[in-house]
Amino acid sequence: QRAEYAALRDVPAETRDGVPIKLYMNAGLMVDLPHLVETGADGIGLFRTELQFMVSSTMPRLAAQIELYANVLASAGDRPVIFRTLDVGGDKVLPYLGAAREENPALGWRAIRLVLDRPALLRYQLRALLIAAAGRTLHVMFPMVADVAEFRQARQILEVERRRLDRLGRPLPEAIRVGTMLEVPALAYQLPALLPLVDFISIGSNDLLQFFFAADRGNPKVSGRYDILAPAALKLLKGINDACTQANVPVSLCGEMAGRPLEAMTLIGLGFRSISMNAVSIGPVKAMLRGLNVGDFRAYIDRLIDGPDRTLRGKIESFARDHG
Ligand code: PEP
Ligand code: MG
Repeated sequence: QRAEYAALRDVPAETRDGVPIKLYMNAGLMVDLPHLVETGADGIGLFRTELQFMVSSTMPRLAAQIELYANVLASAGDRPVIFRTLDVGGDKVLPYLGAAREENPALGWRAIRLVLDRPALLRYQLRALLIAAAGRTLHVMFPMVADVAEFRQARQILEVERRRLDRLGRPLPEAIRVGTMLEVPALAYQLPALLPLVDFISIGSNDLLQFFFAADRGNPKVSGRYDILAPAALKLLKGINDACTQANVPVSLCGEMAGRPLEAMTLIGLGFRSISMNAVSIGPVKAMLRGLNVGDFRAYIDRLIDGPDRTLRGKIESFARDHG
């Protein structure tokens, strides 16, 4: 089977009825980079920068951050890399950061909330990214943004850093694209205010859906109780994708569901044209979409999404079975 997927590397990611789909890879360390070429992914849709911080016993210095980001960009070549700024706090504890234990870590002082309160951390990281991406396009994305003001504030810090380097006569990225994760349900209801401000959006369905159903994604007692193929969840995802598409804002989804063929198929049926997943999933997902007739499937799912089913999993499975 591995050989079968390897053979798919150079064939286009296109559905049976000719709809092109962008398949990106998630990554977090240099060891992930060879997979970019091996899988034929279109780029890195999510680079989790916190991993460098988590595998280190002290705060990575500016030089170490620059080195990692520059190496990642060099190995990615012409393919885009979306760097997500530090997503720590809550259960991703950094011993050298001195954060207190929290009752509800997933809902706590983490990600953008933490770095907006400790802006030096964010400033250093953004400085490292700006330096590493000199002469190229830099894609930066902020995690756990819950309202538009947080996005504005984070982007303002990026702008301050950019001006600083410019004043110092340092070479800058050729272009800077700034986006946000959409993984807090409240942000989905601020799209009219948010979309004019962002260059792209990536849905973090792991967090988004755990908050949507109020069910801890890591607690097996409840994580299986709600299905992400429930109409309520699919309507949420479709609404976000439709709003972004209408506003011409590139939108992607980088949660684990993008890497499971049935879920990925559903996303494409909902209208997604770009998804990002672990490297091992690219082959299976590409194999799935080359057999998929999106036109037929979209009509099928549109009929079901407002219906009474608790989940559409069974019906989507039968569609997949009946249509090869
Ligand atoms: C997500 O929440 O879907 C996501 C991609 O971020 P992480 O899994 O790193 O929280
Ligand atoms: Mg997340």
